[in-house]
Amino acid sequence: MLLFLINQIEEGEEMPLLFGTAKFNEQKHLTIGGCDTVALAEKYGTPLFVYDVEHIRQRARGFKQTFNSLGVKNKVIYASKAFCCLAMYKLLEEEELGCDVVSAGEIYTAIKGGMSPENIEFHGNNKTSEELAFAVDQGVGTIIIDNFYEIDLLSAILEEKGKKQEVMFRITPGVDAETHDYILTGQVDSKFGFDVASGQATDALERILADEHLVLKGAHCHIGSQIFSAEGFLAAVEKMLLILNEWKQSFGYSVDVLNMGGGFGVQYTKADDPLEPEAFVKAIVNAVTGQCELLDYSFPEIWIEPGRSIIAEAGTTIYTVGSQKSIPGVRHYVAVDGGMGDNIRPALYDAQYDGFLANRISAEPSEEVRIVGKYCESGDVLIKGIELPPVQAGDLFAITSTGAYGYSMANNYNRNLKPAVVFVENGEDRLAIRRESFEDLIALDCQ
Ligand SMILES: *Cc1c(COP(=O)(O)O)cnc(C)c1O
Repeated sequence: MLLFLINQIEEGEEMPLLFGTAKFNEQKHLTIGGCDTVALAEKYGTPLFVYDVEHIRQRARGFKQTFNSLGVKNKVIYASKAFCCLAMYKLLEEEELGCDVVSAGEIYTAIKGGMSPENIEFHGNNKTSEELAFAVDQGVGTIIIDNFYEIDLLSAILEEKGKKQEVMFRITPGVDAETHDYILTGQVDSKFGFDVASGQATDALERILADEHLVLKGAHCHIGSQIFSAEGFLAAVEKMLLILNEWKQSFGYSVDVLNMGGGFGVQYTKADDPLEPEAFVKAIVNAVTGQCELLDYSFPEIWIEPGRSIIAEAGTTIYTVGSQKSIPGVRHYVAVDGGMGDNIRPALYDAQYDGFLANRISAEPSEEVRIVGKYCESGDVLIKGIELPPVQAGDLFAITSTGAYGYSMANNYNRNLKPAVVFVENGEDRLAIRRESFEDLIALDCQ
């Protein structure tokens, strides 16, 4: 039956892009992690985020095991901002990943979720003194210093508490991931980190080394996001090691850790063609090996911070189709029961997504439609143009690869409720985040 169905699809139109354990069953329903999404929609309502736990594990292991198989000391540190909740931190602990956080709220959630504080790395270009004090009190493993203000602030907090803190510092090496070139604008013109070209990074190094409260582990850079090829990382490794080697010559300081950040690309649509996690790791390790040999620099531990590449493709959003508006000769709009409140990326930066009917995959003749949400903004568009068979109210529409920067950027615009999030694995479903209620919605309001 499944084979017949696939043959039928191939004659009519292309098979949709499916990730991880996603497939279609005999009822022509989308299943993920062995769970029928039609049944999940009935059980939990829509919009619903469905996360394929096996796919998350595979991605995590793809990074981790490649480093291990190459015999390279490493830390794979998941970037919480892509998506986090208690259940996610539990999963990260199981897979022996650390996490990076960018607020006290993320630190709090990570620790509540069972993440060991020493495996937490604290980032941010404007950490408040309260947040830094909280991080120190909680025993956060590494604070990534981003600017001169933070050196003084953190040092004063540590002085008062009589503590020392392991830190790294973020530098902007001036590599543009898009052009794979060293350039002087672009990455240099960033609100994050210490600039290399103007000498700020070297000043920062001297000040951190001179500070008795700060224990410097190494240097960090993050060159961009949704990067498809290894070249940007290779250029960054080369540039970082040149800088590190200069510091070794001038100050006799060598890093223990080189942190290459995140930004590994994923597939949102068929047009996207990123490398596999394994290939990124191999390329980075090769480049570090080459540069260290060339410069006679001792091989550092390598840390990376993948966010999107661990969680994006594992997530699928299931919506219910409601109203439609067809303007003859102009456009056919299909509205779903979510939108920019659960996925602001298309409205925010014109992000592209793929989707299909989850309750009846079909090869019927299709028409181009625009998938819009229910929010009071004309910009509330999820997919600008997609070929779909005739759609009816009550159909389930799935948008794939919504796992990163979807729920984590969710909001209550129009006082719509945030969706539920369900984790599926081996035919079992469990609620990771319950759907918001009206009571939740007014919980902060005062009368
Ligand atoms: C956002 C961010 C990441 C993760 O980026 P992805 O594109 O989700 O992999 C990692 N490190 C830093 C410093 C970041 O700002």
